[in-house]
Parts: sequence; C-alpha cells; structure tokens
Amino acid sequence: MAALDGLTAARPSVRPALAPSDRERLADCAEAAYRSGRPDVEALAVLRETGLLGAAVPAEYGGAGADAEELNSLVADVAYANASAAIMLFQHYAVSARVVEHGSAEQRGELLPRLASGTWLAASAWSETGAGADKKKLSTTASRTRDGWLLDGAKSFTTSAGLADVYLVLAQSTSPDGDSSDASYGAAGQTFFLVPGDNPGLLPDTSMRLSGMRGSATGFVSVRDCHVPDSARLGAEGVAARIIAGVRESGASLGAVAVGVAQAALDAAHRHAERRGLLDHQAVRHRLVDLATRVEAARASVERAGRHTSADPGTATLHSKLFASTTGESVVADVERMLGSAGYVETHPINRYAHDVRAVALMGPTNDLCKELVSLPWTR
Ligand SMILES: Cc1cc2nc3c(=O)[nH]c(=O)nc-3n(C[C@H](O)[C@H](O)[C@H](O)COP(=O)(O)OP(=O)(O)OC[C@H]3O[C@@H](n4cnc5c(N)ncnc54)[C@H](O)[C@@H]3O)c2cc1C
Repeated sequence: MAALDGLTAARPSVRPALAPSDRERLADCAEAAYRSGRPDVEALAVLRETGLLGAAVPAEYGGAGADAEELNSLVADVAYANASAAIMLFQHYAVSARVVEHGSAEQRGELLPRLASGTWLAASAWSETGAGADKKKLSTTASRTRDGWLLDGAKSFTTSAGLADVYLVLAQSTSPDGDSSDASYGAAGQTFFLVPGDNPGLLPDTSMRLSGMRGSATGFVSVRDCHVPDSARLGAEGVAARIIAGVRESGASLGAVAVGVAQAALDAAHRHAERRGLLDHQAVRHRLVDLATRVEAARASVERAGRHTSADPGTATLHSKLFASTTGESVVADVERMLGSAGYVETHPINRYAHDVRAVALMGPTNDLCKELVSLPWTR
C-alpha cells in the first residue's frame, strides 16, 4: 500500500486531474490553514490553476463536462490532501450543476464560462441559524420590488464566504406563488437567487471559529437591503424545494470528502507502522487490512452513487453519504489509536483529519436527515 498511489490506482481517467506537486501544495496549505483558521487562499489558487473548478461545467461552456463519478473522484483526491479545499470544490460543483440544470439561457451563458475557467468561485448559502437541517423555517425573505427582488436575512455556515464570486441564496418568497408539495427538505414558497459577491447588500463574515474544515472560509453571509433583478432568480418562483429534491439524483456525494480523508488517515497509519517496524506484527497488518477494506467499501458506495447504476440513484447517493461519512469517522478514530502517542501530538495531521471528517455528517443533508429522506416513503 503506497501513500498517494493507493488513492489513484484503478481509477477512471479524469479530466482534469491533480498532479502530485499540486497535492503536495494542497497538503502544505491545509496544515497552515488548520493552525491559523484563516481562509485557505493558497488552496483556492491551486483549484483555479489546475482547472479543477471547471470540471462540472459542460464542454460547450468551456468546462470538462465530467460526470458525477469523475467529480466524486476529484473531490476525494482533493480531500486526501486538503478537506477544506474539497468542500469548497464540492459546493462550487453543486452550484455549477444547478445552473446547468435550472439556469436560464442568459444565466448559463453568463455564469458557466466563468465557473468553468475558475475566474468565479460559487458558494451555496442555504443554511441559517434556526432554519433547521431540513431548511423549513427560513427567516431570510425575498420580496418582490418594482424591478426585481429585495433579499433580507442572515445565512450561516456558508462555505467559501468572502471568497466566492457568486452565492446561491435560498430565501422564503413572501408572495404566495409556488410549489405546495410537502417536501421533506425545503418548504413551499422558497426560491433560489444567484447573488454576485460584489452586491453591496451581501456581507460575508468569516469570524466563526470552526474546529475542523478551518481553511474552508465557512462563515456567515448576511443579505441586508440586497436588491437583485428578477434575472437573478434560479428556477421559477417558489420551486426551490423541488430543485433541492433533485440534487441527490445527480449522484454527487459528500461521502467523497470522507473517502479522501479516510484514505489519508490509512496511509498515515501504514507509514507509521512501516517506520516503526510494526509491519512484522501480524496483528498490525491485519488491522491495516481491515481499515483498507472499510475505505474501499466507502469508495465503492460513492462510486456507485456517481455511476447511477442503482435502480434508485437518489437513495444510493444518500446511502453513500451516510456510509462513507460514518466509515470515514470510524477509520480516522481507529487510526488515532493505532498511531499511539505519536498521534496525540498536536501537530500530527491525524488531529486535522479527525476534525475535518466529522463535518461530513453535519453538512446538508445531515446524516439524520438522509435517514429521514430514505425512510419517509415507508410511512406513506
Ligand atoms: C464545515 C461545514 C460546512 C458547511 N457548508 C455549508 C454551505 O456551504 N452551505 C450551507 O447552506 N450550509 C453549510 N453547512 C451547514 C449545514 O448544511 C447545516 O449545519 C446542516 O444543514 C444542519 O443544520 P443545523 O445544524 O442548523 O440543523 P439543526 O436543525 O439544528 O439540527 C440539529 C440536529 O438535529 C437533526 N435534525 C434536525 N432536523 C431533522 C429532521 N427533520 N430529521 C432528522 N433529524 C433532524 C440534525 O441532523 C442535527 O443532528 C455547513 C456545515 C459545516 C459543519
């Protein structure tokens, strides 16, 4: 089991890919950002330079046109070195995909070439304090004005806050139109807006101190007196819940982040055992094999979600997030024990991995909500 090679072996060829030197840069700045807690601008520079940001955009708009399996693989590759950069990349891919699926011709023509070239970074601002994991009780409102919309509210836990050039903001439209279906994620009358980062009414704040994903610029974004034209609306008014329900059908899985971190932890355990001459002990070798088996199973579930080979691709995506995140957390915890006292030193990367991997279960849809979404049809 060779470090780094374990991750890329037997993978479909992806366009673009991460060169070993880029991985090293990402890993170096991951440690620096973990210590400082400051937004990892160096990692963002790597994402821009490598062309990775354009992978989810169709070729006709200048992107690589990668499918969900390739995107999951890229996210896992980045997470191996730098989980904060991986969630920035994941959110960028998610917004790119929503613009491809639901954007007007004007939005696609204007935004996608910028998102493809990496000139623009995209962020998702859905969550807010008090809205709940299922985003039913939004206090951010969107009111119609004579020539557009007025957004008012405060978003929390927005990844890439202050770094992004465009934010996909979820708001409760105050007009009555909209989808009245009883969605279990999102609510009737919610609408999405694409708000440029230079809108004077959009105010990012990265003062929140996270215990993990510390380079991801995950913070608050307020929209106060934030005027946007009607052309900023993504999809029809009031149908955001339907758009949200379609997200899992894409096969893009946050589980990919957990796979990358778990592989990094596993490689750290292997290197440690090799350095200390512990591989002569059968018990140590067997523990490493058990860990590798779990990482492989998590990777397989994420790959299957991306391939859409399940009869129910949306459920497969939810399963992959649940399985990969819980497996990732348990693998990292087992590696912490295997490393002995060396892993208890504050500067050992295993501490960053442990904090980073825990975020995957917390990110939307949270693991609890994934279970709710999978099981709700059984109650009808
Ligand atoms: C590192 C990080 C990055 C993030 N990045 C983004 C981002 O870019 N954009 C964004 O919009 N958000 C982001 N989030 C926020 C994340 O999506 C929310 O934290 C998540 O949706 C849960 O919201 P909450 O904790 O406020 O929910 P709460 O409702 O307070 O949930 C508390 C607990 O109750 C459970 N729970 C709540 N409601 C239900 C339900 N209906 N069924 C079952 N269980 C339930 C939850 O699973 C959770 O365990 C990020 C979070 C983290 C940690």
